[in-house]
Amino acid sequence: MDPVDVDALKCSSEVVVGDPDCLKIKKPQFGLLIAPIITSKAHANDIDEQVIADFDATLTRYWIDGCRGQSSHGLLQQGNPEYDVKRQKLYDYYHPLEFNPTIPLDEKTKLMEEWWEKTHALLIEGGLTYDAIKNSVASATIAFREGVVELFEFLEERDVPVLIFSAGLADTIEEVLRQKLHRSFKNVKIVSNRMLFDQNGQLVSFKGKTIHSLNKNEHALDMSAPFHDRLGEDDGPIDDNASVKKRTNVLLLGDQFGDLGMSDGLSYETRISVGFL
Ligand SMILES: [Mg+2]
Repeated sequence: MDPVDVDALKCSSEVVVGDPDCLKIKKPQFGLLIAPIITSKAHANDIDEQVIADFDATLTRYWIDGCRGQSSHGLLQQGNPEYDVKRQKLYDYYHPLEFNPTIPLDEKTKLMEEWWEKTHALLIEGGLTYDAIKNSVASATIAFREGVVELFEFLEERDVPVLIFSAGLADTIEEVLRQKLHRSFKNVKIVSNRMLFDQNGQLVSFKGKTIHSLNKNEHALDMSAPFHDRLGEDDGPIDDNASVKKRTNVLLLGDQFGDLGMSDGLSYETRISVGFL
């Protein structure tokens, strides 16, 4: 992607930049970008914020020690090399199409749906187990951006819900949170492609509508795995979908244009979008 035109961003009425320099260095500090926004609202006794964040390359780092960080799909080694190769071949075919500007959006949307569904079918057919997910995460090149833990703690203290809305894999994302952060947050929920395992821990199906990179909108959110699925099993009840919908100030974090659709359908009053480009 082209370098960020910070001056143009600052002139836009739809963009807020907490610290333009942190965009230039491609290593934004979440606290610098977000804390001032939430703090100012908290002082006004408003409790109507929510944060909707993409996962891959938004909460996680794009580069790790000079290597491209892996995604929640990309890090999976399913313990069956033949199927790992098959999924890689799908990636090699479809990934260039995802960013091909000459393909009309409706056609590209169908291609993405095809890619995701073929990939999920291979995970089932190849016998993915939950243990393989744990092992894959343990050996993966994946890390959170600096400041993510502090941001989650900051928002948890203020009862601001965080929705991680991802076209990746919910179960993998949860495992990344467990292994990399070593704690859970009662305000963090995950809407993503959710797996169903049998009693032997082997993947048998996916719940709900497939979420891919081009349908991250409210429809996908409603049709996806149950909204109450979240990290941590012992937390008390928290906002359901309806009450989250009532939170009319949205802070949206993403790294692709399709991420802007994550808040579609919400009747928000204010949306601040932060792009990690
Ligand atoms: Mg992303």
